[in-house]
Amino acid sequence: MSVIKLRETMQKSFDVGLESLTRQKPEASPTEHAHSGSQGATFFLETFGCQMNEHDSEKVAGVLLSRGYRQVESPEAAEVILYNTCSIREKAAQKVFSRLGEFRGTPGERKIIGVLGCVAQQEGKDIFRRAPWVSLVCGSASYRNLPKMLAELEAGNRRVTGLETDTDETFETEMTRRDNPWRAYLTIIEGCDKACSYCVVPYTRGPERSRASDSILRELRQLAELGYTEVQFLGQTVNSYADPSRRKMRFAELLVTAAEIPGIRRVRFTTSHPRDFTPDIVEAIVESEAVCNHVHLPVQSGSSRVLREMQRTYTREQYLEKIAMMRTARRPMAITTDIIVGFPGETEEDFEETLSLLSEVRYEGLFAFKYSPRPNTPATSMPDAIPEEEKSRRLSVLQAHQREIQTASNGALVGKVFEVHVEGKSRRENQWAGHTSCHRVVNFSSATPDLLGKYVNVRLTSAGPNSLAGEHVS
Ligand code: SAM
Ligand code: SF4
Repeated sequence: MSVIKLRETMQKSFDVGLESLTRQKPEASPTEHAHSGSQGATFFLETFGCQMNEHDSEKVAGVLLSRGYRQVESPEAAEVILYNTCSIREKAAQKVFSRLGEFRGTPGERKIIGVLGCVAQQEGKDIFRRAPWVSLVCGSASYRNLPKMLAELEAGNRRVTGLETDTDETFETEMTRRDNPWRAYLTIIEGCDKACSYCVVPYTRGPERSRASDSILRELRQLAELGYTEVQFLGQTVNSYADPSRRKMRFAELLVTAAEIPGIRRVRFTTSHPRDFTPDIVEAIVESEAVCNHVHLPVQSGSSRVLREMQRTYTREQYLEKIAMMRTARRPMAITTDIIVGFPGETEEDFEETLSLLSEVRYEGLFAFKYSPRPNTPATSMPDAIPEEEKSRRLSVLQAHQREIQTASNGALVGKVFEVHVEGKSRRENQWAGHTSCHRVVNFSSATPDLLGKYVNVRLTSAGPNSLAGEHVS
């Protein structure tokens, strides 16, 4: 496990689960150059963006490994170079093109360079024009066909694409190369049927497709047998899950059933959409200790007017009713959110309403973004774009406000005891780190050896807005 990566994550006291925590990288070998067809051919896979992309990459790697490919750690050592991309904001998409510019391969060397994921789906064949050294472009709905596409390239085809989004299949594989040794990710619903006016996801990931509950639970049992104790269900709108099987299991029921599987101690889920956040989900968290008491419930704005323009399908008041459901529940829950500042036409009053929402909800953590116009989305043609400097100002005001909230709420936790799933060991002696059920990151001291993967009680001894520290107690 990478201690450096762990350290980076542990800078934040609250990790909402959208980034992967630890990774076990494959060994790099300078001798891995010889091309030998798919048997033993090497691939390099770099991932940009959200946890769903990270998990898609685990599945892509699994598919390729099961076909005899070997994974290497540098593009130089690979015959097939794949970038799994993100286009949620313009910066993320640009990053991919600058990466493609950095690595074109050596003239005369036969490498397959492929673009996967959201940028692939969004830009399509245009990628071949912008980066002619790319030979494969494949969106997330077509990953199943990757081995076939690679075989076509190896057989001499110059370019292949997989850009369909109308498949009703989810991307299930027989083998997933899981990077996180402590937490297994499982996509239970792919795509998105909502139509938020700023968002590319419905265009890049296609319509919602849910995975059958018996298939999810079967994989979960296998994971438990392999020794996983923690699982995280993934979906752009995870709680819009609609079991396609005759069983018609509800999302809340799926959480509870998963939590009852022997060996499973923690069940997480992200991201929830407020519209489909129903009382039975809160009930599941209250009744089942193994269902984690953390809900990531993106609000995007505190102004009902802006929410309407965003086509979020709820008002500030309706959103606050969902919050009240959680804040009054018998079991305390951590709530985190996403906010977009500088949406077209957002007035100072609208922005003030977002600040007041933060004061009212007192989120345990948040991700804030400056609005970024995205191709094909209705918001790009809305009037009254907010200047970049003003977006930046609002972002810093919002973050400062949230920092004050977290300073106070984290401070109030000192002296309390939390169960921590130990996921990392620091270079410093007797220093460990892990997550609480409510997804707080805790750094703690303990002289006990071999704590990795264990669940221990930790008393918090100090807290900052973005850090929690404690000591192991028996
Ligand atoms: N499905 C989730 C939901 O409904 O809240 C969010 C998924 S999206 C991948 C993650 C976050 O990116 C969103 O919650 C939103 O805050 C942000 N986001 C999406 N489109 C954006 C845009 N055009 N500009 C800025 N932020 C954006
Ligand atoms: Fe995008 Fe809205 Fe779907 Fe979330 S719910 S992925 S923000 S369209």
